[in-house]
Amino acid sequence: MVDLRQLRLDDARALLEHSGQRLPDRHSDSTEFLQAVIDKLSELSLKDPLTGLSNRRYFQSILMREIEMVARSGESALLLMLDIDHFKSVNDQFGHPAGDAVLQAVAKTLAGCVRPMDTVARFGGEEFAIILPSCQGQYGLQVAERIRDSVSALKVELPSGVALRVTISIGGAFAPRWVRSTSELWVDRADIELYRAKSEGRDRVCIEAQPMLAVSAEEKNLLFGPLSLGDPAWIESIANDGSTGSSGSVMNRVN
Ligand code: GH3
Ligand code: MG
Ligand code: MG
Repeated sequence: MVDLRQLRLDDARALLEHSGQRLPDRHSDSTEFLQAVIDKLSELSLKDPLTGLSNRRYFQSILMREIEMVARSGESALLLMLDIDHFKSVNDQFGHPAGDAVLQAVAKTLAGCVRPMDTVARFGGEEFAIILPSCQGQYGLQVAERIRDSVSALKVELPSGVALRVTISIGGAFAPRWVRSTSELWVDRADIELYRAKSEGRDRVCIEAQPMLAVSAEEKNLLFGPLSLGDPAWIESIANDGSTGSSGSVMNRVN
């Protein structure tokens, strides 16, 4: 049995209370109390405080898990990188609190556009990232367009009565199937598409064409079965070394 009086929990309690988390009564069962402190601290460490979305740390862990899944199952997974257009001018014209209100409203809109199995994260500043597991080519494009539409339809009402509107640019890349990539390479490929969406005028979606790779289950076993037992580090850069054609990135631009 843990004696709570021997633990220094004041900082943890203060942190949780400050962030609006309710803990059980300290005099209740000590194991239950300690478990609640651990659970709520874990939750807090995975969330972005401004928007309530997953933070970058959690995003990174889901990204790596998804890479494993795609390498093993060959299912399609899409990563979207999203960036609010000309966001600096919102801060400059209306102030930082107005910028924060826009970030919160955009975050809520993004979370409302995806399936429960998808992960929406604040990547940093006015950039967001969405991981869509089990996502086929056309579906990914539809989701990205739905997100772009929903954000541009959003009106953020400020206390002054002004209603702000923003647009968002989106870049996307699919995880290479049957191949173990790295999270950095995957993010880089989606970022290249985001950059392209920005440079082509913003408020648009650019998604890297998915390499055509049709491998039957039998072929997959023949090709990868014995090797995958040894857990080889199949690195995307090797597979993409000019041989698959995917690194040439044919783009599907919508709009
Ligand atoms: P672009 O269309 O090229 O993305 O232009 P931009 O103005 O959105 O991009 P830029 O990188 O020039 O500016 C991003 C701004 O986001 C600058 C920074 O002050 C603001 N920002 C980053 N984090 C926060 C935040 O947490 N709150 C607020 N209010 N602003 C933030
Ligand atoms: Mg940015
Ligand atoms: Mg921006």
